[in-house]
Amino acid sequence: MMDVDSAELVQQFASDNYAGICPEAWQAMESANHGHVTSYGDDPWTTLASNAFRKLFETECEVFLVFNGTAANSLALASLCQSYHGVICCDQAHVETDECGAPEFFSNGSKLLVAQSVHGKLTPASIHELATKRSDIHYPKPRVATITQSTETGQVYTVKELQAISAACKAHGLLLHMDGARFANACASLGLTPAELSWKCGVDVLGFGGTKNGMAVGEAVLFFDRVLAVDFDYRCKQAGQLASKMRFLAAPWVVMLESGAWLRNATHANKCAQYFAKGVAGIPNVSIASPVEANVVFLTATGDILDRVNKRGWKFYTFIGGAARFMFAWDTDLARVDALLRDIAECAR
Ligand SMILES: *Cc1c(COP(=O)(O)O)cnc(C)c1O
Repeated sequence: MMDVDSAELVQQFASDNYAGICPEAWQAMESANHGHVTSYGDDPWTTLASNAFRKLFETECEVFLVFNGTAANSLALASLCQSYHGVICCDQAHVETDECGAPEFFSNGSKLLVAQSVHGKLTPASIHELATKRSDIHYPKPRVATITQSTETGQVYTVKELQAISAACKAHGLLLHMDGARFANACASLGLTPAELSWKCGVDVLGFGGTKNGMAVGEAVLFFDRVLAVDFDYRCKQAGQLASKMRFLAAPWVVMLESGAWLRNATHANKCAQYFAKGVAGIPNVSIASPVEANVVFLTATGDILDRVNKRGWKFYTFIGGAARFMFAWDTDLARVDALLRDIAECAR
């Protein structure tokens, strides 16, 4: 063990990114770590990963593996837009609040057109409003709508909602992009297949998150309309997102998808969020800020209560949506959740 204070290693719930690598992904990296293979994606694991995505999604999509979600989102949006286009998103969207302007940067200026939202959900009405707000040459031309599944505050879009969004997009000639950093959690929550929650609902391009769901690094960009994927490989390379030792991004995906770990991990994380939410429900002076449908719970409490919880060593974010965020991962230990619940109950008295 390297010299790290063991207090630093204790399980926390500030982010699902605090967790390490799940056994399946770790083993896959180990299995891929033999011999020499061709670099830059011309290796057997990358082919296997692409085919595993096609099988899971039940369609011949184009697949690209990138390092992180900011790249998956911003490069996908850049490839769908010209610099004079607009991207409709909601006010809580990661592309708007947490990507340091990467979508605008990589698209050379496509403007995010931001809708007010409840729980980070874009609605057909807001798409209609933003798509028709202006039609003159002085305003960016709306080209894409992007939605996050599950949302930044842990809600899921139902199939009905997705179909309505897709219809609104079609009515206005917009493409539909989905930020699926936590797509697996949505599949687990709704009990629906990846196909049912993506292209069958009219999603054109999906960023499928691996990192938050137990991988070391990696998100997949899936183009369901293969024409839209033309030259995306060049875009990845130019943006520094083409892994030279691609097999170590690809091999974990193969095992995650084929073993079902992608869904098991998300199911576990979601269940832990439900467990925590149930535990919180009995505590006075603390309430749940938004419906718990994925792997996150937002708590509303006075600053004093939250300070006391924090002083007991618990980490959490308060900069997202104004409430305290507790996020659960593939490795969440319910004994740690119980310890957190006990401390919250004592601090809230
Ligand atoms: C974490 C996250 C991303 C990706 O973030 P990176 O840190 O760039 O990997 C994208 N969208 C959402 C909704 C996220 O929560």
